[in-house]
Amino acid sequence: MKPRVAVFSFTCCEGCSLTILECENELLDIVNLVQFVRWREAMTETSDDIDIAFVDGSISTHSDVRKIKQIREMAKLVIPIGACAYNAGLNALKNRYGMGEVKEMVYGPDGAQFDTIPARPVSAVVPVDFALPQCPIDREEFLRTVRDLVLGRTPRLPDYPLCVECKRAGNDCVFWKGMKCMGPVTRAGCGAICPSNGDYCEGCRGFVDHPNEQAHQETLKEHGLTVQEVMNYFNLFNSYDESQI
Ligand code: SF4
Ligand code: SF4
Ligand code: SF4
Repeated sequence: MKPRVAVFSFTCCEGCSLTILECENELLDIVNLVQFVRWREAMTETSDDIDIAFVDGSISTHSDVRKIKQIREMAKLVIPIGACAYNAGLNALKNRYGMGEVKEMVYGPDGAQFDTIPARPVSAVVPVDFALPQCPIDREEFLRTVRDLVLGRTPRLPDYPLCVECKRAGNDCVFWKGMKCMGPVTRAGCGAICPSNGDYCEGCRGFVDHPNEQAHQETLKEHGLTVQEVMNYFNLFNSYDESQI
């Protein structure tokens, strides 16, 4: 029996579930390993008999809370995919404001009728079994995760900073070009795609578990910056703060 897989979307652009759909060359290999039984972007059939639920998006309405709890009851494994689901990603930016203010900003005077609560990662609402970061998810990392799950292995994320991948790729550090970069404290795994293409890292994979803060501070000091300045600059993907909920 192949594991029965569902893909669910909450508050997000659904770019991460679309990334799965875009695994054109590998999709046939995936369907040899698993059976998709529910996925709004890809099929009309639906089922509540689910082994693995991949979930993209943040939990940011009362109905999201009810739905993710139902999914947790239905599925054996719940796996958030992408920054929005992993650490609330971009959606957490709204948590800095009162929800009344947010609704008025977005919907105008009729805002009160809309259901909005502070955005949370999936793991803040239900227990999860693994989670994939990044905006959008890395295709190879997703495929590796599916293979691991099917083979009964525990999937793992790299626990070292992006700078390691960046240096392996032979990039010149963007700090020497006058840019700022989150590489020293960001979890590796994307192949340092942004610095490899002349850009800086915005930290969309979230923080590495044990960042070498001292080394980071020393690097920043060398370039006349403080951690706070860099954090203020890079709050796009890492602003979720449980204490504000
Ligand atoms: S992580 Fe990025 S690509 Fe994925 S759903 Fe959120 S905004 Fe879209
Ligand atoms: S460009 Fe960024 S990721 Fe690359 S070495 Fe410099 S700080 Fe690290
Ligand atoms: S380099 Fe940084 S911002 Fe770019 S994909 Fe990787 S973690 Fe995200």
